[in-house]
Formats: sequence, C-alpha cells, structure tokens
Amino acid sequence: MIFKKTFALVICLFSLEAFSNETAHEVRLKGELNPEKSMELLKNGNNRYATSHPRHNGADLKDRGKLVSGQKPYAIILSCSDSRVPPEIVFDQKLGEIFVVRTAGQSLDYAAIASIEYGVSHLGSNLIVIMGHESCGAVKAALATLKGGDAGSPWLNKLVTDLHPHLKRFSELSQTDGVVVESWANVEGVAHDLLERSEVIRNLVQSGDVKIQNALYHLESGQVEWR
Ligand SMILES: [Zn+2]
Repeated sequence: MIFKKTFALVICLFSLEAFSNETAHEVRLKGELNPEKSMELLKNGNNRYATSHPRHNGADLKDRGKLVSGQKPYAIILSCSDSRVPPEIVFDQKLGEIFVVRTAGQSLDYAAIASIEYGVSHLGSNLIVIMGHESCGAVKAALATLKGGDAGSPWLNKLVTDLHPHLKRFSELSQTDGVVVESWANVEGVAHDLLERSEVIRNLVQSGDVKIQNALYHLESGQVEWR
C-alpha cells in the first residue's frame, strides 16, 4: 500500500515537472532566474515538445506588444541550421525568450561569436547552450574531408576546416549510428573554441554569471540529451 502511494506520488511529481508551463518571465518576476533555472526552463520546454504538450501562450498580439520596447532572452542557443532542429520549437519557447544563433555544425565564425557575446553582454542571457544533433550533415562533411578533399566551395571548405580539430580522432574509425558520438565531440569542441576565442564569454563563465551547457538533439524522439 505504502509502495503504491509512493509510486503514485513519484508519477504525479514527474508529470508536474514534465509539463510545467512556467515561463522565464514568471521566474524573473520571482527573482530566481539563474543559469540553473534557465536550464530547468529549457528541459521543461523540451519535455512538453517531445510529449506533444506545447504551451499555447507567448506569441499573440499582447505578447508582441510587450516586446516592442525591448527583449530579455534568458538563454542563448547555438545550434545547427538543419531544418529539423529549430530551437524555438524543440524547447517550446515563444517570442522574446531565447536568443538563437544557427550555423551549419554550430561552426563558430566571427558573426556567431559576436552574436553570442551580444546576447550575454547586452541582453542579460545567463546560459549558452551548444546544441548538436543526430545525423548532422556538417559533421558528416567534416568527417569526409578529414584527410583532404573538397567540401564544395571555398566557404564550405572553411567551415569544415573549423570542425576538423574536433573530429581528428575519428579519422581511422567507421561512423557511429547517426554520427552521434562524433556530433558530441563536435559540440564539446565548439564549446572549447568559444571559451578560447571569446574573452568576454570566458570572463563571464569564470565569474559564474554565465554557464555553457552542451546538448544533443535526437531526431526521432525529439529529446535533447544534456552533458
Ligand atoms: Zn547539422
């Protein structure tokens, strides 16, 4: 009996967590918007998306009106440009909530770095998520050109060259399912590059004001895995 009650309580708490509709605006009003809380908002949003329980507020005339005078996105998402991985949908976030930077393979050119710097320095975002995904074409292209070869154009060659150091250790190995292992390595490499290339972000991370979090999106389940 006690077991049954405990089990029911656990299920109930899990359900509340999984479908929490709390918004960043509500958390900010309570003065609780730190990097850990930002993570929780994204995890809750991804749970809603993956289980098909999306929020229905946050994108109407009233919401647009509130945002005319400015924006305070709580998190920055650097993700791939892949059409199957739109962060606003994957995290069930609405207008003004997340600041999104997208490049193929999360490649970190000057514009991507500057955009992230702007988000943390001027908009008050306290969390940077580097999100790769299963079956990433940019990761596959970088793997295919590790020993040389043409990716298709000078700019594409530049992009894959930037990813190569993250993937060097896979040059003699066959690709894993959905290049998941290689995509994780790329995410970790991008996070490392971001800290190395941006003094602004390095200082904010060292002071604890901003956190960098690695993530990987799974195409079929819709779930974001965190590391
Ligand atoms: Zn991709």
